[in-house]
Amino acid sequence: MQLRAPAVDTSVHFDPDLIRRYDLHGPRYTSYPTAAQFRDGFDPMEYAQAARSSNDDPIPAPLSLYLHIPFCESPCYYCGCTRVITRNHAKAQAYLARLYREIELQAALFDRDRSVRQLHLGGGTPTFLTLDELQELMDVLGRFFTLSRNPRRDFSIEVDPRTVQPETIAGLATLGFNRISFGIQDLNPDVQQAVNRIQPQAHTLDLIATARHSGFASINADLIYGLPYQTLHTFGETLETIIAARPDRLAIYNYAHMPQLFKAQRQIAEDRLPDAEAKLGLLGLTIGKLTAAGYEYIGMDHFALPTDPLADALHRGTLQRNFQGYATGAECDLVGFGMSAIGFIRDTYSQNAKSLREYSECLDDGRLAIRRGLEMNADDRLRRALLQQLTCQGQITFSLYEQHFGISFQEYFATELRALTPMAADGLVKMSAAGCVLTPTGRLLVRAVAMVFDAYLRRHTSAPARFSKVI
Ligand code: SF4
Repeated sequence: MQLRAPAVDTSVHFDPDLIRRYDLHGPRYTSYPTAAQFRDGFDPMEYAQAARSSNDDPIPAPLSLYLHIPFCESPCYYCGCTRVITRNHAKAQAYLARLYREIELQAALFDRDRSVRQLHLGGGTPTFLTLDELQELMDVLGRFFTLSRNPRRDFSIEVDPRTVQPETIAGLATLGFNRISFGIQDLNPDVQQAVNRIQPQAHTLDLIATARHSGFASINADLIYGLPYQTLHTFGETLETIIAARPDRLAIYNYAHMPQLFKAQRQIAEDRLPDAEAKLGLLGLTIGKLTAAGYEYIGMDHFALPTDPLADALHRGTLQRNFQGYATGAECDLVGFGMSAIGFIRDTYSQNAKSLREYSECLDDGRLAIRRGLEMNADDRLRRALLQQLTCQGQITFSLYEQHFGISFQEYFATELRALTPMAADGLVKMSAAGCVLTPTGRLLVRAVAMVFDAYLRRHTSAPARFSKVI
C-alpha cells in the first residue's frame, strides 16, 4: 500500500558530524519486513494460495517479473550477491530449461489478463546468456504472460560491460528492454585489479553511448565507494568521467566489508580499504559532484537527472521502494524466477531455494522452488506502508495511518516517537502534531530514521550485525 501526502523539500545536505553519529548497521528497506524475517518452510502451497487469491482483488495489481540469472565468469571480490561462478556456458541451457518450467508453473497461478508492466533481469550476470538465449527467454515469457506493450512499461536488464559488445546492447533494445543498468563500480585500473573486475574505460563508455543511440529510455550506472585503493582523487576522476557520459540514473553503493558473511571478500586486502573518515569524504565528494552536475538525490543510494521518471516520481510523491531500489508507477505484484529470487504477492513474501542444486531438484520434480517466506500481519502492513512513505516521500503523515489502519498514531507509536526526539533535536527530522518530515540532512540518514519503526530490530537486538552500515 502506498499512502501519499503533499510533496516536501527534496534537497539534500551533507553533514559529516551527524553522519558519523548515525552511522549504524541497518537494512536498506527494499522490503519490510526484510528478508531476514522470512521463515523456512513457507511452501509452494501457501504461495499458490496467495497468488490465486490476488486474482480476486477488486482491481488485481499488474505484474512485475524478476528473473535471476546467477552465472558469472569470475568472482568480483566485493560481491555479496547469490551467484554461480563458471566459465561453462552450457550451464545456461540447463538453467533456462528449468526457468521455462518455472515460468509455466507460475503463469498457471495468475489470470492471463494481468499485464506485466515491469520486468527485470538481474544476477549474477544476465548477459552471461547470449542474445539468442535472451530472445528465447523473452519468447517464453510472452507465451505464458501478457507482456505490456505500453511504451511506459519498465523492462530492464543488468549488464556487465565485460560480457558484451556494442552490438549486444543494440540487440537488447530490439528484444524489448527499455532500461539498462551497467555495473561499473570504479574506472580506476588499480581499484579494478584489487576487486578482480577489470573493464577498460573506453569500452564501458562506448557501451553507454551505444545504449543512448539504441533508444533506451533510461540508462543507469552502478558505482561503489569504499573499495580498496580508492582516494578522493581517483574516485573523483571516476565520477567526472561517468558524469560526462550522462547516465540518467546513478546508484552509488557503500561497500560493506563483511568477510564473515561473504567469502569472496576475504580476497580483499583490508589494509587497502579506505577507513571510515576516508569513506565519509568519498560520500561527500559524490554528493557534491553529482548535485553540482544537475543530478537529484532520490534517496538511499540513488541519484537521477531531473528528466528521468524517478525524479518526476520523487516530486509527485509516487516513488516506490522495492527490491530493485526505487521505481516509478503503480505498485505491482512481484513474481520471482530463478534461484534465490524473491516474490511479493499481496501481503506475502516468498523466496526460492538459494542453491542451484536445490532449485534444480524442485523444478525437475515439477514443483515450484519456494523455500522461505512470510505472510504479513496487521502490524507488518502498517509499518510497511509507513516505511514506504518515509523512504519515498521523506515524511510520515500521522492522519493517513489513523484513517487507513484505525489507530491513534500517538498511542500506537509512542515508543517510536520518543526515539525520534533526539533525532529531531539533532536536525534529522522536523516533528509536528501532523507528522514528521526528513530535513535535507535527514534524507541522507533515512535508514537510521526507518530503523526506529522496524519492530523486528527492536525484538532482536543482535540482528543489525548482518546488515551493512547506514553510510
Ligand atoms: S558483482 Fe556481479 S559480476 Fe561480479 S561476481 Fe557479483 S554478481 Fe557476478
